[in-house]
Amino acid sequence: MPACTRCGGKPLYTRRYSGETLCAECFRDSIAEKTKRTVSKYRMFGPHDRIAVAVSGGKDSLSLLKVLCQLYLPRRNEIVAISVDEGVAGYRDEALAHARAVAENLDVEQVVVSYKDLFGFSLDDALDWKDERSVSSCSFCGVFRRRAIDDAAVRAKATVVATAHNLDDYVQTFMMNLMHGDVNRLGWLDPAYADDTFPVRRVKPFIEIYEEEVALYAFLAGVPFQSVSCPYMHEGLRSEVRDYLNMMEANHPGIKNVLLRSSLDVISRFARSSQKESVPCGGCGRPSSNGLCNVCRMKAEVEEHVNIQRNPRSVGGG
Ligand code: SF4
Ligand code: ZN
Repeated sequence: MPACTRCGGKPLYTRRYSGETLCAECFRDSIAEKTKRTVSKYRMFGPHDRIAVAVSGGKDSLSLLKVLCQLYLPRRNEIVAISVDEGVAGYRDEALAHARAVAENLDVEQVVVSYKDLFGFSLDDALDWKDERSVSSCSFCGVFRRRAIDDAAVRAKATVVATAHNLDDYVQTFMMNLMHGDVNRLGWLDPAYADDTFPVRRVKPFIEIYEEEVALYAFLAGVPFQSVSCPYMHEGLRSEVRDYLNMMEANHPGIKNVLLRSSLDVISRFARSSQKESVPCGGCGRPSSNGLCNVCRMKAEVEEHVNIQRNPRSVGGG
């Protein structure tokens, strides 16, 4: 491998899509620079923003917290880590411990919210009725997670939430939405999504960084890695899409970057042409397309099914 293109130091990593070879230090610097460029390009943060970083405790989100703290050092007290405890025994505890340790080390305030407190049930409780659901555990969990993050951001008095979605996550999600026929959900993929009816914007500062580069950054930055995976994770289609895109990238370096640009172009046109009226949800008052938001609809379903399982004789007059 040739020497580091920037400083002539010991080479560590070559970006096949650009031909650049980097040493460990220049690689880490390059991730911070790329993040800064993305933030600036999409005007993700303004001078008066209080930034909530959604920190699950995984390597991507902990890396994002580190990079943003480095970039916004003088405004460190305007960064807060927000974490969601879904209530998955044996899994989330380790991630939350990592999140707490990294936040403390960076001297960043941490706000933790739990499904149990917000919705009245843990994910373990809610997934009890798995067999009767039509949606996957992760789609189901994701609806509550988005609401939990929004609530945590409001509690943290944040004006913007940064999530650690990387380039691979993004193009995979774009393709999966197409494959599921979920064209209406494409608007959520706007890298600086703003919903006029809710005060907290959502931004994705890692959107232009490959997953393998975030993983390498995490390793070099000493970010702790989780030893267990969520027991409900069932990636199905996503892992097939990931494998396909990785194979394409190996054969055509840079193709994921092209796909990202195409996706963003489609989404910006789509977002402009699909501004829909929303109405307040009858359950929680948040915006909804038809008077009942997904959270309230799914919460009612959980309550119904979990009660049936806990009190089987209360159903059918038994
Ligand atoms: Fe929720 Fe799926 Fe993540 Fe588990 S893997 S916490 S079910 S989104
Ligand atoms: Zn609602």
